[in-house]
Amino acid sequence: MARYIVLLGPPGAGKGTQAEILARETRLAHISSGEIFRENLKAQTELGKLAQEYMNRGELVPDDVTISMIEERLSRPDCAGGALLDGFPRTPAQAEALEAMLRKNGSGVQVVPYIAVPAAVLIERLSGRWTCRAQEHVYHEKFNPPAVLGKCDIDGSELYQREDDKPETVESRIRVYMEKTSPLIAYYRERGLLAEIDGTQPIEKVTADLMAAIQK
Ligand code: ADP
Ligand code: ADP
Repeated sequence: MARYIVLLGPPGAGKGTQAEILARETRLAHISSGEIFRENLKAQTELGKLAQEYMNRGELVPDDVTISMIEERLSRPDCAGGALLDGFPRTPAQAEALEAMLRKNGSGVQVVPYIAVPAAVLIERLSGRWTCRAQEHVYHEKFNPPAVLGKCDIDGSELYQREDDKPETVESRIRVYMEKTSPLIAYYRERGLLAEIDGTQPIEKVTADLMAAIQK
């Protein structure tokens, strides 16, 4: 039976960092909605052009386009065994759409680890984040620096700072998270799927807690 795990948490909580590690451990596909938008932006597809203005403002891309993008992505062969969802769903409408699309295949979300990190910590995390051009491996200049400055340890590609990681945009992303995404905490808690994880711990400790939560 396919396994679907939703990683929930504010921007900067460590979803991408942990999803990368968990994908290796569980062999599930890592699906990052933000990464798909950025790839489309780079390729200047219609979807990329549409998403760009929202992303630059730190707002959410509209539900209908986001939902159909994820539905298409989950239908590809590498997701036959399930997926680790990083950054989707981000609204109750997206969560309901996910439930409906998985139900069609007799499946559903198995567990929703919620990586909790207070807002004050998020700003420091995002302003020091460096992302690799090739595959979006993430580093932090203080908390998780690469071995060689400006270069990805895993694939050697260049590290860059995301346009939307500047302080003004980060603030609006956190505001949008509080307003639109944080209701999902209660949504999944009510369904008995939520597993709260302390995201302020060191990366390895967060991974250990996540592994325990998804193996239950
Ligand atoms: P998200 O995908 O939730 O936005 P990321 O995984 O990109 O978050 O992490 C945001 C930043 O915080 C990155 O620079 C990352 O290296 C750093 N980071 C991730 N987890 C931790 C942690 N447990 N402690 C300190 N810094 C972390
Ligand atoms: P982070 O984890 O650092 O917040 P992401 O890479 O997940 O960043 O997302 C970057 C941007 O892409 C978001 O600010 C938003 O504009 C857009 N985005 C990503 N996922 C979604 C989603 N599920 N719904 C709407 N917009 C999204």
